Amino acid sequence: MAGIAETTPNTEVVQPLREQVRGRVIAAVDEGYDEARKVHNGMFDRYPLAVVRAEQVGDVIAAVNVAREHGLDLSVRCGGHSGPGFGTNDGGVVIDMSEMRTVRVDPRQKTARADAGATWGDFNYATHAFGLATTGGIISTTGISGLTLGGGIGYLDRALGLSIDNLISADVVTADGRFLTASEHEHEDLFWGLRGGGGNFGVVTSFEFRLHEVDQVYAGPILYNLEDAAAVFRMFDEFIRDAPEQFGGFPGFQIAPPLPFIPEDRHGDPLCLVAIHWAGPLEEAERVLKPFREVAPIVADGTGPLPYPALNGAFDALYPKGLRAYWKGAFVKDLPDEAIAAHVEHGSNVPEVTCTMHLYPINGACHRIGANDTAFAYRDATYGMVFLAGWTDPANDKERIKWLRDYAKALAPYSEPGGYINFMQDDDYDRIRDNYRQNYSRLQEVKRAYDPDNLFHLNQNIAP
Ligand SMILES: Cc1cc2nc3c(=O)[nH]c(=O)nc-3n(C[C@H](O)[C@H](O)[C@H](O)COP(=O)(O)OP(=O)(O)OC[C@H]3O[C@@H](n4cnc5c(N)ncnc54)[C@H](O)[C@@H]3O)c2cc1C
Repeated sequence: MAGIAETTPNTEVVQPLREQVRGRVIAAVDEGYDEARKVHNGMFDRYPLAVVRAEQVGDVIAAVNVAREHGLDLSVRCGGHSGPGFGTNDGGVVIDMSEMRTVRVDPRQKTARADAGATWGDFNYATHAFGLATTGGIISTTGISGLTLGGGIGYLDRALGLSIDNLISADVVTADGRFLTASEHEHEDLFWGLRGGGGNFGVVTSFEFRLHEVDQVYAGPILYNLEDAAAVFRMFDEFIRDAPEQFGGFPGFQIAPPLPFIPEDRHGDPLCLVAIHWAGPLEEAERVLKPFREVAPIVADGTGPLPYPALNGAFDALYPKGLRAYWKGAFVKDLPDEAIAAHVEHGSNVPEVTCTMHLYPINGACHRIGANDTAFAYRDATYGMVFLAGWTDPANDKERIKWLRDYAKALAPYSEPGGYINFMQDDDYDRIRDNYRQNYSRLQEVKRAYDPDNLFHLNQNIAP
């Protein structure tokens, strides 16, 4: 193994961390370093000086202070899913929150206090025991922190709003090592910025969320032939404009994986996908889903009643840790026929089972929050569109990235200038202002107030 940390053993940094931190401090000489330095996206092979596995808020404060005092890069990691691999770095410090993942549910108040290293799998497991949930991501291994701080899109967002719309408060360690609670009542400017502004303002150590009654849902994928994709997308777009808000699925493209509900002779075929998620009364599901049954012949139907967390883990196997990945995203208001034609053209060429495009609806309850009420500015978008290429063989890097860039480029004329920050790649920095629109200057003010020297810059960065 050769890397920066190995060639420059920096005891000045590692020693004080070992003295002050109660959790593990993992440097190049330590067992487990090779695993500890890795993030979900296999494209990023980086060698930090030390990975601090925080066990308590005190560990976070110590790591922030040491990184600041030594002028080092600082990554903050929860689930490690950042597309641009912000959760690791070369020669700096990583605060890995994954040892802090307790979720405490208050079923009477319908709230949950979650430590900032929890994944959505941890969170949903804890809240489902009480028949409760809040909006979270579609994959169980994604961290609650990164996803929430960027906004938080998921099956429940049309019914309950984005994850940030359900945030009551957050505990934060700021760049100067202070510990603050941000809410509607304290440090309101910080609370505003945290709701969409990403990891720019400090290390969140725990989140308090509002919960809602969501228990059994009717959900799963429906697959259609590519020749019917245009009709399916058109129907979906008309349906979603005023669909009951408990509906939260999305259309996309998917190579059929070898799953029992898909006819064997279709395994490996590129198909049109609609992920179905109905969180209303189960007996109403078939009535609501009628347009999906009638729009075109169905190749495979994996829908049925299931506990909400089961769907959250259903697609995990498609996105394992170490998969090489490249992303792009854009917000979309309308889906004209020309946009659908471009989707069909590029989506039909989806090259691997781990490559896709999803059009996540973000209307309904998400539209009832004002564009300036949180840092998340695109309250008038109908969809958060994501293009994702995932592959294992480095020899395919160029080709997969090209497929994705060509697809995103073809849709650009029908997309907004800005996109969801959590779907941005590292070559998208010039779009950060566009992502925040009118909220950007206020985000800069919050940045200047809480992180004037930009200690937290390994993120979709808001320059102070
Ligand atoms: C397989 C997969 C599925 C996804 N599905 C969805 C989805 O359904 N909905 C959706 O909205 N997004 C989704 N995303 C995108 C996801 O929201 C972002 O990748 C997000 O950054 C992941 O959060 P994380 O905590 O796992 O990542 P990390 O890489 O750990 O964190 C990402 C960034 O968030 C910040 N951060 C993390 N923890 C903290 C903290 N405690 N305090 C302060 N800042 C912190 C840091 O800037 C960090 O670089 C998905 C991503 C993947 C890879």
